[in-house]
Amino acid sequence: MENKVKCSYCKSDAVVKRGLSQTQHRGKQQRYLCKNCERTFIPDFGFWKMKNNEAKITKAIDLYFSNLSSRKVRNNYRRHENTPVSHVTVLDWCRKYTLKVQKYVNHFTPQLSGEYYADETEINRGKNNDIFWCSVDWGTRFINATLYSPFAQNMADAKEFMQRIKQSG
Ligand SMILES: [Zn+2]
Repeated sequence: MENKVKCSYCKSDAVVKRGLSQTQHRGKQQRYLCKNCERTFIPDFGFWKMKNNEAKITKAIDLYFSNLSSRKVRNNYRRHENTPVSHVTVLDWCRKYTLKVQKYVNHFTPQLSGEYYADETEINRGKNNDIFWCSVDWGTRFINATLYSPFAQNMADAKEFMQRIKQSG
């Protein structure tokens, strides 16, 4: 499925590819020319303004959702990476990322297999735990519904989450 590129300035979708550009944190990226406002831009796919590169961020999130605590993730970075991150940064990435995922999930209309694997992950925030609800389509491995809740597991969130899975098809 293709994520339709829109102009970063005027949101027009009348855009054409205009070669690759070297970026500071993301390597070479496709640059586009907008035929409507005639400016060129590199699309923002969610990580644009983050200081660290995608690989590092996705690794942290990956480790986190593999049920490591954010402090363990931080320690892992201390041992294996030359740029340490704090556990607060890791949590911050997780929150930003899940919100972005939610935004994108709501835009896509993929062909789903109809079999879902749903799960909820507790995100430790000290006194309270946030819950990240996630449903993945078994056939396509596409995340078809998410819910990020600042509340412990409760019936209202569970219902809202099931509703989102239903709406996804
Ligand atoms: Zn434009």
